[in-house]
Amino acid sequence: MATSSESEKKKVKVGIPRALHFYRYFPFWKKLLEELDVELVLSPPTNRQIVEEGVTHGFGELCIPMKIYYGQVLRLVKDHPDLDYIFVPRYVSEDKESYFCPKFLSLPDVIKILDDIPKILNFEVNVKEFPIATSAIELGKELGKNQAKSLNAYRAAQKYFDEYHEFLRQGVSVNYGLRLAQRNIPFKIPKKKHTGDIRFLLLGHAYNIFDTFINLDFQKKLLDHGVEILTIENLPEFIFKEPVIVNPWGAKLQNYWKHEEEIMQSIRYFLRKGRDEIDGVIFLISFACGPDSLISELIKRDMKVVGLPFLEITMDEHSGEAGMLTRIESFVEMVRRKRKKLGLSPREKTKIKSAQGV
Ligand code: SF4
Repeated sequence: MATSSESEKKKVKVGIPRALHFYRYFPFWKKLLEELDVELVLSPPTNRQIVEEGVTHGFGELCIPMKIYYGQVLRLVKDHPDLDYIFVPRYVSEDKESYFCPKFLSLPDVIKILDDIPKILNFEVNVKEFPIATSAIELGKELGKNQAKSLNAYRAAQKYFDEYHEFLRQGVSVNYGLRLAQRNIPFKIPKKKHTGDIRFLLLGHAYNIFDTFINLDFQKKLLDHGVEILTIENLPEFIFKEPVIVNPWGAKLQNYWKHEEEIMQSIRYFLRKGRDEIDGVIFLISFACGPDSLISELIKRDMKVVGLPFLEITMDEHSGEAGMLTRIESFVEMVRRKRKKLGLSPREKTKIKSAQGV
């Protein structure tokens, strides 16, 4: 049992910037750090000021998610001058086959050179070199915790993260899941589920798809137009078991980048078995993103083969509301016309049958 002086002891205060891998790993980080007795603070959702500040610190050709990361770090530090640490994990590899984009590999190094930044709390994920449990032990050590406590924290975080993924696979949006995690609310499927007469697969990095400021609330625009949305996080696990062979006819190449591999895996599923489950694909990419521009060409090639409508939207800090809306409206219109011509899809027939109780 903790003595009164121990329980009164001030908790270590750690700030998390709401950007980049926040949209992918926040529930895991939160559980891990809270199990290690940390008090967490988050920067606010991205806004114009944060973007502008980030842009002044990121050089011209940097992708917009990185510029936002700078802006979020600076905002966090300004709003919470009493932070003991700022959590800046280094993601190198999450499996033996692929790497994260180099921007993630160097993240703690580029952030620590900013002026007036608190100590960086690192958490390195580099499965090619060591298990994640080792990183959790190192993290615990920095926070003054012993190995057993750190390992328990890691197991609890992994369990919570698995539950979170299971929840998302039932069709729930990531933003909703993140809100529940942030407020410590149990994962529960909402009563009202959005449906539409057409369904799109929305592809892209989580920070492009779920940061509603930078993508000009793209998903809401689609929902308002009666479109049902699927994202990678909603897809069944088995889709991500098979590696994608990029060039099956020549030298057999595999994707080098982790996120791009996941994007390609989901695309390959919808090209074959899942062809009738969606009516179109939209790919949100960041201007100046090397990995995305590479796979975008491969996806376009695949889309042409199966004749699936495809829209690619490139975002940066200058993206405008009107242009985005026009592109969405014309794409939705085109897909609806195509669907009408083709008649009911097997997905719609099943939907009608189940509504009629057949
Ligand atoms: S994958 Fe692209 S968008 Fe993401 S950090 Fe790397 S360069 Fe930027």
